[in-house]
Amino acid sequence: MRLLLILFWLAVVAAVLLPLLRRVRLSAARPRRALPDELVKDPVCQTYVVKSRAVRRTEGDEVRYFCSVECARRAAGG
Ligand SMILES: [Zn+2]
Repeated sequence: MRLLLILFWLAVVAAVLLPLLRRVRLSAARPRRALPDELVKDPVCQTYVVKSRAVRRTEGDEVRYFCSVECARRAAGG
């Protein structure tokens, strides 16, 4: 009789825990959507830089990306 009770509780616990575990596993397995690392070319030294890390300069309507502040300065003619 006691064994039956234990089995019953095990079934209850499993019924409660398994969906929770599955949910945790799903959220852990879900791949993180990373931002696309777009490469931009530095017009000064011809180096490709990741856009998010590039030094950004706007000239009028045009946006230019540089690998460093130094290159941006050089492009500006300084
Ligand atoms: Zn550069």
